[in-house]
Amino acid sequence: MKYTPPPAAAGRFNTAWAELAALGRDGRRGGYSRHVFDDADMQMREWFSAQATRRGLDVELDRNGNLWAWWGTPGPGAVVTGSHFDSVPGGGAFDGPLGIVSSLLAIDEMRVRGIVPAKPVALVCFAEEEGGRFGLPCLGSRLMTGAAEAEHVRRLHDPDGVSFADAARRIGFDITHLGRDADRLANIGAFVELHVEQGRLLHAADPTAAIGVGSQIVAHGRWRITVTGEGNHAGTTKPDDRHDPMIPAAAAILAARRSLALHDGAVATIGRLQPIPGGTNVIASSVDAWMDVRHGGAAETAALVDEIVAAVREEAELEGCSVVVHRESLSDAVMFDATLTMDLALQLDAPVIPTGAGHDAGILAAHVPSTMLFVRNPTGISHAPGEHAETSDCLLGVDALADVLAELVR
Ligand SMILES: [Zn+2]
Repeated sequence: MKYTPPPAAAGRFNTAWAELAALGRDGRRGGYSRHVFDDADMQMREWFSAQATRRGLDVELDRNGNLWAWWGTPGPGAVVTGSHFDSVPGGGAFDGPLGIVSSLLAIDEMRVRGIVPAKPVALVCFAEEEGGRFGLPCLGSRLMTGAAEAEHVRRLHDPDGVSFADAARRIGFDITHLGRDADRLANIGAFVELHVEQGRLLHAADPTAAIGVGSQIVAHGRWRITVTGEGNHAGTTKPDDRHDPMIPAAAAILAARRSLALHDGAVATIGRLQPIPGGTNVIASSVDAWMDVRHGGAAETAALVDEIVAAVREEAELEGCSVVVHRESLSDAVMFDATLTMDLALQLDAPVIPTGAGHDAGILAAHVPSTMLFVRNPTGISHAPGEHAETSDCLLGVDALADVLAELVR
């Protein structure tokens, strides 16, 4: 891809990025903590509204707390782009905001090119994509599509015990009409979400490519493995008398890691262990290990989990422990719209790559033709302060998004 960004675009990008850089910094964890309806989220919403208004777009808050800006009159066949403002706790700067900043700059670019859309264009900022405050990822898009029940969401609580309903009330948001927004959904002709890549599959597909097009979100599930042994004294218990549940838990961690080498494209991670009682001089009586697994499809994912669990059971038997496995969630793979994806890939001459991360585009994909554009992430680090994309790549992203939108609005 040969492209020299116009200096004006680079200036606008740098200004927007500098304005957002100050909002929602997390002094303790590093990076950003921006959660739905908190101060940072409200400041970012204000920023977006001002940016959209300055561009002559009509800003609108939908019944589910998602913020929209319209170029043209809302109506059927709308071409929609956008992402989310919220972050994981201590997250990076790019996950979410890059898609929103790029959507504004893509409108500028289309106007520079003299494009007059034949269809309505909308920019959207979805609420609580990460589930960082109320624990439900893609909360705004799930509500809009009916994938989450309004009553269920109203009752969700944040870690401080504040309900979604109360959090909404505090910022003056009316939740009376929370829930499926069929008319809005019916008006969307296509949805394209631009996002920083959260890995390095783009590099693997083509080391020279700055932009990729999304093919699918792989299946994703969470399991809790509980190993029960016998609590005892760390200093006096002889080896033969030990029934230490941490040993099978360690086997789970190693089996999860080893499974990566055996299954191409699969990832299994144990990022959280909770031994009971959790004392340094105590052999634990039991331990919970939470495992996150992502693989091509739901069936393959479940089979991979079975393999890991078999390794845990083997070790548990040797140690005289028992194992109980509880599936907390399992979502099947989401395929993005094949025609839209191929059209974009051809138009941009960009590689097509899957992603192991969840996105609002994955929720919308069940209802409207949807796909994603990924901007190269040199280290692949995401959900951490080190997340990064080069400005020149971000500008290529804006240009690619403008190309794609210009084609879709014809
Ligand atoms: Zn995201």
